[in-house]
Amino acid sequence: MANPSAQPLTVADLLEVVKLQNGSAFTKDDLAMLIQEMKKPFVDVAAQEREKREASKTKRDMEQMRAIQKQAQNRCSHKYKKSGVWAISPIHNYPDRQTRAVCNLCRKYFEPQHVEIGFGDVRTVVAEDPQYHIVREIEAEAAYELVG
Ligand SMILES: [Zn+2]
Repeated sequence: MANPSAQPLTVADLLEVVKLQNGSAFTKDDLAMLIQEMKKPFVDVAAQEREKREASKTKRDMEQMRAIQKQAQNRCSHKYKKSGVWAISPIHNYPDRQTRAVCNLCRKYFEPQHVEIGFGDVRTVVAEDPQYHIVREIEAEAAYELVG
């Protein structure tokens, strides 16, 4: 036995209901517009506002973390305290064959002067890190140890 309320309503059915309740106040176009409005997806304004607040808080937190990391990097000697040995690890696997390096204590990234190719083949010259001379020093020491 089919349930008549489970069947989808047609525009004609809705018009019939409206005529029963309110005479001819609604036209077929009004009803079609009403149905179109009903078909629109639900928009939770409170959820949208919450997402906006959370996104701005995340952005503020990230900026604060970056500032704290920058302060730590400026204070870091990039040397292990006990041994006095450089805490910098060279990275050699870049296509331009120039050495990059990272400090194992503060995660500072040391870059030489190089060209970055961005979207639309836009080439940007990235300046050498002011402390890149430390990387050169470490590389020279390593080369000296290899030679003898
Ligand atoms: Zn460091």
